[in-house]
Amino acid sequence: MTGRLSFDVLVIGSGASGLAAAVTAERSGATVALATKGALQSCNSAKAQGGIQASFGPDDSPETHAEDVWKSSHETADRALVEVLTGEAQGAIHWLEELGVEFTRDNGGYRLARCGGASRKRLLQVGDRTGHAITTALREAWESSGGTSLPKSPLTSLEPTENGWRARCGDHELEAGAVVLAAGGRCYREAEERGELSTNHPGATGEVTRIALDLGAEARDLDALQYHPNGGAWPPNMQGYSIPETTRAYGAVLLNKEGEEFTDSLGPRDAVSQAIFDEVEKGNGVETPDGRPAVLLDTTRIPKDDAEVSLPYMLRRYRAAGIDPLAEPIYTYPVLHYQNGGLVIDTNAETTLEGLFACGEIAGGTHGRNRMMGNSLLECCVFGRRAGKAAAERSRG
Ligand SMILES: Cc1cc2nc3c(=O)[nH]c(=O)nc-3n(C[C@H](O)[C@H](O)[C@H](O)COP(=O)(O)OP(=O)(O)OC[C@H]3O[C@@H](n4cnc5c(N)ncnc54)[C@H](O)[C@@H]3O)c2cc1C
Repeated sequence: MTGRLSFDVLVIGSGASGLAAAVTAERSGATVALATKGALQSCNSAKAQGGIQASFGPDDSPETHAEDVWKSSHETADRALVEVLTGEAQGAIHWLEELGVEFTRDNGGYRLARCGGASRKRLLQVGDRTGHAITTALREAWESSGGTSLPKSPLTSLEPTENGWRARCGDHELEAGAVVLAAGGRCYREAEERGELSTNHPGATGEVTRIALDLGAEARDLDALQYHPNGGAWPPNMQGYSIPETTRAYGAVLLNKEGEEFTDSLGPRDAVSQAIFDEVEKGNGVETPDGRPAVLLDTTRIPKDDAEVSLPYMLRRYRAAGIDPLAEPIYTYPVLHYQNGGLVIDTNAETTLEGLFACGEIAGGTHGRNRMMGNSLLECCVFGRRAGKAAAERSRG
């Protein structure tokens, strides 16, 4: 299918946020096209392992969750967005379950872990392939809808028209009443430019943010990039792998070359990453066999039962590379992971340009300058749904 096409809503990007927006817009009665750079499966969302936050614990609440986000962001998050994020978290989980996601359960309830910066156990998981499970369910829902998928169709230009927007996506010229930008962050490109490792998918290059900025959309905190504290540092085929933060939730701790704990392993991400950089700077780190800086993550402290239920993929990958994390500590060092800031949105995910929406990693404000783990998949679902609904309404005038 090529040529000039017209839809109510055009969604750019096929990660969790784009799929959530596309499914919701279609179910709201809009005609929807979803254009993406590569295959429909290509995105960061599918790589997410650790989990998704929602306050299901008996001692927890959306307010406590919101307070943790606020503190982790160093009081820089947009409180209205945070309220929506945490207030709609349980609903988003139930929606995902209706689409077929089966979260790991324990004693009749969800298996909840405590992640960095959280004051309660709040992280739901699907083993350690949570993003894969969520994107598979969303993609199946999208593919069984009447929507139009346009893979291998990167957005290269966007301009306002009298009734909405005109977009160039690969070979297609598309008209739409409303557009949802869900093209993710830019950490792959940023890491390449800095000569560093990144956890990101090669599609995470940020050109869609640039297109929106050139149109006059406002952005915030774009300079605030997040390092994942635990990138794999050895062996070579695990370099840049994001060791799930749930390793630390289930008991792994960070050690220096003397075998001493030098930081709170469950602190906020930026604090833990900085502590590792500082420890190495002081000469207390270790070196990988190929000469890279690192510290040790003592994964031998994770109880075997927890590891088998919540970290099977991570164990399989390391064991296939000849290292058993339950028998020996593993080398780790921070890697570029996430774009904290992005396009300014309101609570309906609309940018500062009318009819142009943004959700997921491309949007800013929900996490301020420092995201907690597990809140990005949540943001994709909560604001993806809001963007899809509002874009469908907007396109009807
Ligand atoms: C290894 C890893 C582990 C993670 N673990 C977790 C976790 O446990 N919990 C959590 O909450 N978060 C986690 N995250 C973060 C989270 O997964 C992502 O931030 C989130 O899924 C981003 O979703 P998205 O839909 O905004 O973008 P993405 O999933 O990155 O999707 C962006 C889409 O846009 C497309 N695209 C890009 N440019 C263009 C263009 N020009 N035209 C058209 N399409 C384009 C891409 O091809 C892709 O399909 C992890 C991230 C990584 C990389």
